Amino acid sequence: MEIKDIVKTHLVNRREVIRAIAERELFRTTPRDDDIPRYLKLPGVKEYQQYVYAKFASVIRISSFDYISKTDEGWLIVGDHRPEIAAKISLIIEQYGLGVGMMVLHAQQMNSQHIPLEIKVDDELLNLAEPTERLYGSSGEQILYVPVRRFRRDFNKLAEMNIAKPKALWNQPRIVKHKGDTSDCCFYCSSGEINPAEVVVTIEGARLGLSRDYSFGYTFSPFGNPLSAIHFLAWDYSENPLNMNRTPVTVSDLVKMTHQINTSIMSYFAGTDITDYPIIDGVSNGWAGNSIFHQHFQFFQPEYESPIKSEYLEDKPILERDDIRILKLAWPTPVYKIMAEDSINVGLVGNDLAGIWRLQGKAKEIKDVPFFDGYVPEETNRIQTYTQNLYVMGSDFGRTAYVLLRDRGKVNFKPGDSEFINRAKGIRPVEKENIGVLEATGTMIVENRADFNAMREWGPGDISVQIHKMLTAICLERKEINKFERNIRGLFPE
Ligand SMILES: [Zn+2]
Repeated sequence: MEIKDIVKTHLVNRREVIRAIAERELFRTTPRDDDIPRYLKLPGVKEYQQYVYAKFASVIRISSFDYISKTDEGWLIVGDHRPEIAAKISLIIEQYGLGVGMMVLHAQQMNSQHIPLEIKVDDELLNLAEPTERLYGSSGEQILYVPVRRFRRDFNKLAEMNIAKPKALWNQPRIVKHKGDTSDCCFYCSSGEINPAEVVVTIEGARLGLSRDYSFGYTFSPFGNPLSAIHFLAWDYSENPLNMNRTPVTVSDLVKMTHQINTSIMSYFAGTDITDYPIIDGVSNGWAGNSIFHQHFQFFQPEYESPIKSEYLEDKPILERDDIRILKLAWPTPVYKIMAEDSINVGLVGNDLAGIWRLQGKAKEIKDVPFFDGYVPEETNRIQTYTQNLYVMGSDFGRTAYVLLRDRGKVNFKPGDSEFINRAKGIRPVEKENIGVLEATGTMIVENRADFNAMREWGPGDISVQIHKMLTAICLERKEINKFERNIRGLFPE
C-alpha cells in the first residue's frame, strides 16, 4: 500500500491516533499514579515480583505500543516502543545477567498484555493467572489443564487481543520463510510483523560463552499460570538458522543458558530477604515434539515437579568417571541423567551422548516420517531420524541434565479401536500427536475443557496407564538402546 492509501484507510481512527500521541507526551513527564500494573494486584503475585517492579518500573511500564489502528485494510502501530524496550533489557542483561533481564521482560510482557492474564471465551472472562489444575497418576505422572494453549492458532482471537495480526494483513516483505520450511512463515523471525506486543532481545553468543547468537522472547501461551510460568524461548539468531534436525553444540548451550539464568537470578536476590524468586528449567524437543522448524530452546518455571526428578527412579550408574556420573532411569522410555560438579561438563558429556545417538541412527524413508514443523527434506528421500529430548534442571544450576533418546519416526500415540485404559469403567486412551519432552517425561498438557473434565473421573492408576501407553508408543528397540549404552562406555573407557 502507498502512504496516501494508508493515511486514507486510518483516517477513520484519527481521534484515537491523536489521543494516543497526546497521552504519550503528557504522561512522559508526569506518570499516572494509577499505573500500577494489574499483574501486581493479583492474589498469586510473589514478593520477588514486587521487588523487581520497584527496581525496574521505568522499563516495565513502557507499553510495547501506544495504540493500534485496526482496519480491514491493515494495522498501523502508533508509538512502537519495542526496540527501545529491547535495548533496555539488553543493558539489564549486561549488568545483571540473562535471568534478571528475562524476569524484567516477563513483567513488561504481562503489563503490555502480550502474555494474557485472562481471556474472553463466549462472553465469559476466563482467569488464567491461577494455579494450573492438575490430575496425577500413581507414580507421579501428571495431566495439566492449560486452556490458553488452545488459542495458539486462533488468529481471530489473537487479533482481538492485540497479540497477533490476522494473516491476511501481514506485510509480506517483512515475513521470513526459511529454505526447507513450508509453514506460512517462521513465527520467530516474523514476530516483529506478526506480534505487535512481543519484545525480542538478541544477545551476542560470544559474550555469554555460547556457541552462537540467540534471540529471546516470550510466548503468549505458556505451559500454565502466566504469572508464574515465565515461559520464554531462545532461538538461533542467524540469516540461515539451524533447524531442529541439525543441532551441533546444542546440549552445552542449553546447559550454559540454564546455568546463567538461574545463577544471575540467585545472585541478584542475595542480600535481600527475598526467597520466592523463580527457578527456571531449560528444555529442548530436538526433532521430536517440535512444531517450529527454526532451532529453539524453551525455558519455564514448572508449577509442579517433573516426575522424572524422583530419586527412586534411579538405577546404579552406567558410567562414572572423574566428576561425571551417568545414570539410567527406571522409566518406560530411555532417559539418562547426567550429573557433574561443574555444569560445563554436563553440557560436554551431553553433546557426546546426543552425537553418539544421532550417528547410530540409520536414514529412514521419508514416507514413514511425520512432520509437524513445516520441514520438507531436500535432495534425498531418506533422512536421519535419531534425535533427543533434553531437560536441564534449574534447581541445581545446570549440574543435572536428562537426555531422552528419541526417534523422529515414533512421535505419535494412536490407540487401537479395541484398546482400553480401564475396560470396567469404559475408559479409552486419549490419542496424542507429536509427543515432546514434557509428555516423554510424564507431564501431559490438555487444552480442551471437555477432555480434561472427562479425565477427572479417572483414577491415578488410569492416568498412569495413559502416560505409560504414550511412552510405549515412542519407545525404541531394546537392541538399539543396548548398542547406545555400549557406545557410551566406549567413548569414556574406564
Ligand atoms: Zn526463523
